[in-house]
Amino acid sequence: MDSDVIVVGAGLAGLVATAELVEAGHTVLLVDQEGEQGIGGQAFWSFGGVFLVDSPQQRRMGIKDSVELVMQDWRGSAQFDREEDKWPRLWAEAYVNFATGEKRAYLKERGHSLFPIVGWAERGGALAEGHGNSVPRFHITWGTGPGIVEPFEKIVRQGVANGLVRFAFRHQVDELIVSNGTVTGVRGTILEPTAAERAAPTSRVGVGEFEFTAQPSS
Ligand SMILES: Cc1cc2nc3c(=O)[nH]c(=O)nc-3n(C[C@H](O)[C@H](O)[C@H](O)COP(=O)(O)OP(=O)(O)OC[C@H]3O[C@@H](n4cnc5c(N)ncnc54)[C@H](O)[C@@H]3O)c2cc1C
Repeated sequence: MDSDVIVVGAGLAGLVATAELVEAGHTVLLVDQEGEQGIGGQAFWSFGGVFLVDSPQQRRMGIKDSVELVMQDWRGSAQFDREEDKWPRLWAEAYVNFATGEKRAYLKERGHSLFPIVGWAERGGALAEGHGNSVPRFHITWGTGPGIVEPFEKIVRQGVANGLVRFAFRHQVDELIVSNGTVTGVRGTILEPTAAERAAPTSRVGVGEFEFTAQPSS
């Protein structure tokens, strides 16, 4: 066993997952096909626009928002009108509740801060009846993309310093290892080292193979 958990991808999703695991005291092997210079993935280049609902920034600008209005907007795009839409709908509701409640404090506690003006992205028809956000909800991270990556990268690097996190860069996952219906590990190709700048194309030349296993969940 190489760690309690293996996280594939050191983009923002992988960094947040790893940070959560570190805060819970678990060991993590963080695997990414690119070099360490690419940490943060797309989020580094993003605008850092964060979805929050009924925030102080919105209220200061006179924007009236609520869980009901967001769900109406979300339904306007996604519909959620098929049987198989059950889990996406439940996920949307959980995420909207998070974005209305805990999310702001969750980010702030980790050192994230916001530009005071709320933008209006994905506005669709800009009507509460149609698709898209009917009010501005696009909260811009102070420092844009790097400002959203930094708090989580910091926790992950602290985890490395504390011996909880190990990095495996230039490790391309090709396959999940499944035992008795449970994913227990990953296998793939070790790629040759690269000195390419962040996000520049990199070589796919393999110099070896790897297999890592993690603790199966009970
Ligand atoms: C210019 C731009 C602006 C944006 N602006 C915003 C915004 O303002 N607000 C917003 O919410 N979103 C925005 N986005 C979208 C947002 O940045 C992305 O949705 C988000 O960063 C994706 O994070 P991720 O960790 O899921 O994926 P990624 O950042 O793509 O990370 C995936 C990681 O997994 C690694 N990987 C992939 N396959 C393998 C494999 N087989 N083996 C090993 N490693 C692998 C990759 O190398 C990468 O490091 C923007 C995106 C761009 C490009």
